[in-house]
Amino acid sequence: MNIKAKDLSKIYGSGESRIVALDRADMEIRQGDFISIMGPSGSGKSTLLHLLSGLDHPSSGSLTYDGTDIYGMKDKELSAFRRRRVGFIFQQFNLLPVLTARENIAMPMLLDGRQPDREYLAELAELLGIGGRLTHLPHELSGGQQQRVAIARALVAKPDIIFADEPTGNLDSKSGGDVMDMLERIRNQMGKTLVIITHDSRIAHRADRQFVIMDGVVTEVLMRK
Ligand code: ADP
Repeated sequence: MNIKAKDLSKIYGSGESRIVALDRADMEIRQGDFISIMGPSGSGKSTLLHLLSGLDHPSSGSLTYDGTDIYGMKDKELSAFRRRRVGFIFQQFNLLPVLTARENIAMPMLLDGRQPDREYLAELAELLGIGGRLTHLPHELSGGQQQRVAIARALVAKPDIIFADEPTGNLDSKSGGDVMDMLERIRNQMGKTLVIITHDSRIAHRADRQFVIMDGVVTEVLMRK
């Protein structure tokens, strides 16, 4: 899947309180890319990630997935598109505390009125090293294990692209490194596109394409492929 952002902008407020959170971003993301977006707090990272993934609406500009302008879709159509084609990983894991790991992983499929592919779910759990933890509740798991459950949940609907918002921000450096290794392995083995926002340069430098955002202005600073 190819994603193209053209002159994508997001402006909050007006007059004195006007903030240009994203300033005419142009980006092209190709299937299989591993992209990092780095920038200080308040620079527009989350705004960019939300716009690229169809979670928000731009003030101006366009975003196409394989030529389809996703912000031209009706809200319901856009939600369905997101559920099926895009996976998300959050800093805070966002697991439901009363559900087991397996139920958390299956949740996006159930919300979409579908049954998870049991074999695929088991394969994901093995790949992520949580096969023996599927009946546990989130609080019975370490932070690193919780994030791996969240990664499996992001993958269960077989999306083409994974967006990760500071995926290691809540982890110590060892578990954070393990989670990054897993994400890279999944991207390599499954041919997924991976877009990560981070303020950690060690994580940013693992990506093949590195972007920096400052005051809403996005710049590509390194392209290794
Ligand atoms: P980052 O993720 O890099 O910390 P954000 O994308 O969250 O940055 O924010 C970029 C800028 O937009 C900041 O100045 C922030 O205060 C502003 N901003 C973000 N969301 C809103 C909002 N809902 N209303 C007003 N301003 C916002």
